[in-house]
Amino acid sequence: SSEISLRDIDRLANNSFPPCMRHLFEKLREDHHLKHGGRMQLSLFLKGVGLKLEDALTFWKAEFSQKVGTERFDKEYAYSIRHNYGKEGKRTDYTPYSCQKIISSTPGVGDHHGCPYRHFSEENLRAALTKMGVGGHAMDDIMQKVQTRHYQLACTLTFEAVHGISCDTGVNHPNQYFIESRKALE
Ligand code: SF4
Repeated sequence: SSEISLRDIDRLANNSFPPCMRHLFEKLREDHHLKHGGRMQLSLFLKGVGLKLEDALTFWKAEFSQKVGTERFDKEYAYSIRHNYGKEGKRTDYTPYSCQKIISSTPGVGDHHGCPYRHFSEENLRAALTKMGVGGHAMDDIMQKVQTRHYQLACTLTFEAVHGISCDTGVNHPNQYFIESRKALE
C-alpha cells in the first residue's frame, strides 16, 4: 500500500479527506488537541492512508505539545498512537473505522468525531460543505439525502460534486473516499 508524507498532509487533508476527517484534522490544527474519540477516529484513518508510525508520532506531538507540553504528550498520548499501530498492549493491528461505525457513534460536548452528515447542525454542515466548494443544486441534493438519513449517499454526492466525477461504488469507508479521491486527482 502507498505511503503519505508529513510534507503533503495539509494538502491531502484539503483535497482528499472526507468531511469527517477534514473536521478532525482542522480541529486538531486549531485546538492542538482532540479528545479520545477524535484521536482514535483520525489516527486510525491516517494509519490507513499510509502515515507511518514515526511520522504519526511527529505529527501528533507537534500539535499536542503546544497544548500539554512534550513531556505530557510522551507520557499520556504517545502510547495510544503506538497502540493504534499495534506496537503496544495486545499488539492488535487496529483497522480504521467504517462509515457505519462512525455514523453510529455518539459524540458528546467537545467531541469532534462522528459523521458531519449525521452529527452536525444543518448550519454547520452547510458551512463545511461550502468550504469544500459545494454549492447550488449539489448542496440541495445533499441536504435532501441528509433529511432522509441517507448519510453515505450524501457523502457520495459530495465526493461527486467536489471531484466532478461519479462514484459508482458509493462511499462506505473514509479510507475508500481518500483512495478514490487520489485516483481522481493524481
Ligand atoms: Fe466520513 Fe463516511 Fe460520514 Fe463520509 S459518510 S463523512 S466518509 S463517516
